[in-house]
Amino acid sequence: MEKAGGNLERVFTVADPLIAGHIESILSERGIHCFVRNRHLVGGAGEIPPLEAWPEIWVDADDAAVARRLIDEVVEPVGPAPAPWVCPGCGETIEGQFAQCWRCGEYPD
Ligand SMILES: [Zn+2]
Repeated sequence: MEKAGGNLERVFTVADPLIAGHIESILSERGIHCFVRNRHLVGGAGEIPPLEAWPEIWVDADDAAVARRLIDEVVEPVGPAPAPWVCPGCGETIEGQFAQCWRCGEYPD
């Protein structure tokens, strides 16, 4: 892959262009020059694009360590997706991000 300027480092990759833009503005506010690759995603709304199409934050290699630390401060650590659960009320399998059964309103045990 060609490197623009030869002295740039990718410090962050995220599926959501909004988050990429947020990181970009935070880094800019701290005086770190950065640019976003793949800002405009191709694909349908709600579709998760392939990893190589995700927006990427690139900074000067000299700023990479500071940039990473700032990004760590603002980005929520992404844990594993919550496990799905089976509703005790109706037996429906509920996605882990839901705290309540969408079908009967029951809560997990
Ligand atoms: Zn239920």
